[in-house]
Amino acid sequence: MPFDFQGKHVTVAGLGVSGVPAAKVLHGLGARVTVVNDGDDERARAQAADLEALGVTVRLGDGATLPEGTELIVTAPGWKPDKPLFTAAREAGVPVWGDVELAWRLRRPDSAPWLAVTGTNGKTTTVQMLASILRAAGLRTAAVGNIGVSLLDTVTGEEEYDVLAVELSSYQLHWAPSLRAHSAAVLNLAPDHLDWHGSMEAYAADKGRIYEGNRVACVYNADATAKPSTEDLVRAADVEEGCRAIGFTLGTPGPSQLGVVEGILVDRAFVENRQKNAQELAEVSDVDPPAPHNIANALAAAALARAFGVSAAAVRDGLRAFTPDAHRIAHVADVDGVAYVDDSKATNTHATEASLAAYESIVWIAGGLAKGATFDELVAGAAKRLRGAVLIGADRALIREALARHAPEVPVVDLDRTDTGAMLQAVQEARRLARPGDTVLLAPACASMDMFTNYNQRGDAFAQAVRELGA
Ligand code: ADP
Repeated sequence: MPFDFQGKHVTVAGLGVSGVPAAKVLHGLGARVTVVNDGDDERARAQAADLEALGVTVRLGDGATLPEGTELIVTAPGWKPDKPLFTAAREAGVPVWGDVELAWRLRRPDSAPWLAVTGTNGKTTTVQMLASILRAAGLRTAAVGNIGVSLLDTVTGEEEYDVLAVELSSYQLHWAPSLRAHSAAVLNLAPDHLDWHGSMEAYAADKGRIYEGNRVACVYNADATAKPSTEDLVRAADVEEGCRAIGFTLGTPGPSQLGVVEGILVDRAFVENRQKNAQELAEVSDVDPPAPHNIANALAAAALARAFGVSAAAVRDGLRAFTPDAHRIAHVADVDGVAYVDDSKATNTHATEASLAAYESIVWIAGGLAKGATFDELVAGAAKRLRGAVLIGADRALIREALARHAPEVPVVDLDRTDTGAMLQAVQEARRLARPGDTVLLAPACASMDMFTNYNQRGDAFAQAVRELGA
C-alpha cells in the first residue's frame, strides 16, 4: 500500500539539498508540512520564504523541538541520530525517514529496480562504472543518490528507467529502514564517520542495511580481512529466498565469485556449472586506471550488472567506455620520465592506502586536515615504496611523525606555508626528490579545507603546478 500523506503532519528536519525538495513534494501530496532548521542565516531565510509562499510552515533556529502533532519526520541524512529531535520522536513513537526512504516510498509500482552500492571508498567510481555497463547493455539507467543526483527527483520525475545505479552513504542507509534493493554491494569497510555513528559496529551495521531484503545478489569483498567483513554483513542480513552471496576478489575466483585470472576479469558466479566454468568479462587494461582498488570496483560493478542479467560483452564495453571523475588517480603529465598523478580525492587514509599501493616508487605529496586520523599504519604499509615525501597543510606534523617512526630513511620536505604558491613549491620539491620511473602522487590522506576550498581546487592547483614544471 502506498503511504497516504493526505492531511498527515510531517516534519522535515533540515533545509537544504534534500530538505527543500522533500518539503515541496510532501506538500504537493497533501501533507501538512513543517520544516525545522537549526540555522537562521540569510540563505535559510530565503529558502523559508520560498516554502512559506507555498503554504509550508518553517521554523528557523530550532531543530531540536518536535513540533506538536508530528506523525512522521523526514530528515536530512546528515542529522545525527542522537539529536534531541529524534529522542523526542522515539519517545512519541514517531517514525523517522531519510531522503532515500522517502524516495523509496514514493516509487511508482512499476518503477525501476535499484542496484545499490555503498562502502567507505569507491562508491562514486563503482556506481559510474555500473551505469556505464548498464548503458552498454542498452538499458535506460542513471547513476543517482549520494553521487549528487537526487533520488527523490529521479523517482518522481518524468523520465523512465529500466534500472538505477544507486550510490548510498552510511547516513542515508541509517535512515532507510524499508529500502529493498534488487542487488547491492558493500565495497569495503574502514573506520569513517565514527563520531556520527557512535562506533565501528554501528557504522558497519548501517552499511549492512543495504543488503536487507535483496532479491538476487548480495555482493561482498572476499579479500577483506578486517572485522566485521562485508561478508559478515551479508550473513547478518535478512534477504529474500534464493538471493545469492557473490564475492569479488583480486585473486582467482572460487565458485560464486568474480575475480582475476592472468590479467582477465572473470565471472564464476553467473555462469552455468560454476564448479567448472568461468566466463571472461574484460581485461584488466580495460579498467581506467588499472590500479588494484579500481579493479575491485570494476568487479563489484560487474557483479551487480551480471546479477541483473547483463551480458559479458556489455560488461567489457561499459568498462571501456568509462572514464573516472577528475582528481581520482588522474594522470596529469609525464615530466622528465616522472609521472604526476592527482588523487586529491584521497581525503582519508583508507583511500590513500589504495592509492599508494598502486605504484612501485613514489614521491608522496600529503597533508591537510587530518580529521582525527592517525597515520602509522598507512606509512608503515607504504614505507618501502616511498622515494620521498613532501608535506603540506595544517596537520602535516602528524604525518611527519609517522614517517619518522616507520620510514626514517625516507627524505621528507616539510612545507611550512599555506599560501596559494604552496602547491607549486610542493611539486617542485617533489620533482627534486623523484627519479625517472617514479610517480609523484598527490594523495593527501587529509581534507583540503585548511588551504583550499575543496579537493577539486587542491587537485587543480597540483595539475597547474605540474604544467608549470613541464613548461
Ligand atoms: P566515494 O564515492 O566512496 O568517496 P570515490 O570513487 O569518489 O569514492 O573515490 C574516493 C577515493 O577513494 C579516491 O581517492 C579513490 O582513489 C579511492 N578509492 C576508490 N576506490 C577505492 C577502493 N575500492 N578502495 C579504496 N580506495 C578507493
